[in-house]
Amino acid sequence: MPRRPIVKKEYTLGERVYLVEIAKGLRLTWKHFTFNVRASFRKGPHTVPTCWQYPEDRREIAPIFRGAHMLQLNDKGQELCVGCGMCARACPAKCITVKRGKPAEGEEDKYAGKTMCASFEVDMLRCIFCGNCEKACPKGALVLGQDYELAEYEPEKCIYDKERLLANFQRAKAEGRLKPPPKPIPVDAPPPKKKAAAGKAAKASASEKAAKGKAAAPKEAKKKDDKADKAKE
Ligand code: SF4
Ligand code: SF4
Repeated sequence: MPRRPIVKKEYTLGERVYLVEIAKGLRLTWKHFTFNVRASFRKGPHTVPTCWQYPEDRREIAPIFRGAHMLQLNDKGQELCVGCGMCARACPAKCITVKRGKPAEGEEDKYAGKTMCASFEVDMLRCIFCGNCEKACPKGALVLGQDYELAEYEPEKCIYDKERLLANFQRAKAEGRLKPPPKPIPVDAPPPKKKAAAGKAAKASASEKAAKGKAAAPKEAKKKDDKADKAKE
């Protein structure tokens, strides 16, 4: 590829003296300074437009954001998790441990299924927030919520047990930060079998005809050429 020629810029006298350019830069700096000073006296948490006043001023989280895990309850307050372990099997980081159990006598109403998780642990130090566990759960029990402040002083606190996962759900529900349910993926109805078979047969016959036509075309051309030669003679 040919290189573009280097064109040396011709500077004007004002540019060579620099004073005008310095004045222009100072004007821009002053403009931003006064804008920010005026903005900082405005009411509201997000006063200075160039920076977010965290933690008072928080950004809105996208509904698809994947944060801390939570175990959901249904409308009757029953635990949805049945302890099947599908989430643990789908986890690429192997950070979920589930033990299945049966509800104790008289406690069946606390659970939506016939079985429940006797213990549930998520090691947040290993989690990569891929969301596979959420997708694999057949009951919609495990969800990655919108909590992103996950730092702890002790590593043991980063292993979330069942109580903490349920508490995460309760807090998110109280604060109105529950994730909207996932949209169902539209699936096209399969074509009727008879029509499909008929279509295939029609395609096959069409391709056969085309092949025959291709084979016959050079013969017909040869015949025409022979006729033309005879006529000339
Ligand atoms: S988000 Fe991914 S890495 Fe984290 S627990 Fe779920 S499946 Fe495992
Ligand atoms: S969270 Fe879902 S996938 Fe995991 S054990 Fe419970 S029901 Fe099964």
